[in-house]
Amino acid sequence: MKIVSALALLPAVTAFVPSTAPKFGTKLNLKQDFLEASPYYDQSAVVTNTYKNKAPFTGKVVSTKRIVGPKATGETCHIIIDHNGDFPYWEGQSWGVIPPGTREKDGKPHAVRLYSIASSRYGDDMTGKTGSLCVRRATYWCPELKADDPAKKGICSNFLCDTQPGDEVAMTGPAGKVMLMPEEDPNTDYIMVATGTGIAPFRGFVRRLFFEDTPAANAYKGEAWLFLGVANSDALLYDDEFQDAKARFPKNFRLDYALSREQENKKGGKMYIQDKVEEYADEVFNKLDNGAHIYFCGLKGMMPGIQDMLAEVCKSKGLDYEEWIKGLKAKKQWHVEVY
Ligand code: FAD
Repeated sequence: MKIVSALALLPAVTAFVPSTAPKFGTKLNLKQDFLEASPYYDQSAVVTNTYKNKAPFTGKVVSTKRIVGPKATGETCHIIIDHNGDFPYWEGQSWGVIPPGTREKDGKPHAVRLYSIASSRYGDDMTGKTGSLCVRRATYWCPELKADDPAKKGICSNFLCDTQPGDEVAMTGPAGKVMLMPEEDPNTDYIMVATGTGIAPFRGFVRRLFFEDTPAANAYKGEAWLFLGVANSDALLYDDEFQDAKARFPKNFRLDYALSREQENKKGGKMYIQDKVEEYADEVFNKLDNGAHIYFCGLKGMMPGIQDMLAEVCKSKGLDYEEWIKGLKAKKQWHVEVY
């Protein structure tokens, strides 16, 4: 079935979000093309830094919700922020957040922290007036106390995860162009590799490609393949939405999870993200040979394991790893945003 006809079967517009915004199946009856460039894939007008540190935008929290189960390692929240349509962004961009208050060490305002935007440009409510963040609460485990030390907890992530509806958030950006999707060729395959909150931009991608009534979604005929690595199934993020995409678009959306504390890799060790991608190395390499774009997002620590794995695969295929990566970068197929 072609995507266009599958979309036509949807009950008008369907919003897929954690339970804080319109529920599955909610009819919004909004035509979702009011935030498109002309043609929709023209990125010449993508803006960055509309709001700067010295004159930040004030967003308003719509909702803040914990989105992981009780056995997850740590807490991750989905935060929807109202920008009243005054702070447009593209899928793959980030917002900066300046936490309130001042630094203990010198009394100066806190520095800005970046967060990948986890919604499409239309927002979870499809109004074009909100954006969502996926934030992991940074805690500090003190080895001497053998407990969390609240004095050393992350300033901005705790501020965001503790917000209540109506709270104000000082914001900058939007930032970055490295994670944009090249939408000109609707047959483009996307390989998205995330660990933890690195899922944020890819949730925006999946919503744009599969759940909206936009020219981009209607045109898309490629395959989007998402790899997500987390510790256990309670730590999975947006699984309900991804399962739904898989059920509706089995030919266009693939989903693979690496659950390090629940699955074993082929050597009997923990299943990390690079082990899961390696299982499909031939397919991944073929896709990249044929022009697929590969994206990595999450903690910096994910990249060495990924790169070692890719280097090994190159070796087994008689490819020069450095040249291979260089080729992907030259053709703009290689996208990395790690922190
Ligand atoms: P900070 O206050 O900056 O502290 C950093 C760490 O140091 C914390 O773990 C804290 O516990 C520890 N610490 C504090 N004091 C001490 C001390 N005295 N001794 C030892 N350790 C201490 N994060 C997300 O959750 N989601 C995203 O989508 C996301 N996207 C990002 C996109 C980009 C492009 C970048 C660059 C970063 C992104 N981040 C994301 C990370 C985010 O910007 C912050 O770095 C993160 O939330 C931590 O900020 P914080 O203010 O909470 O912690």
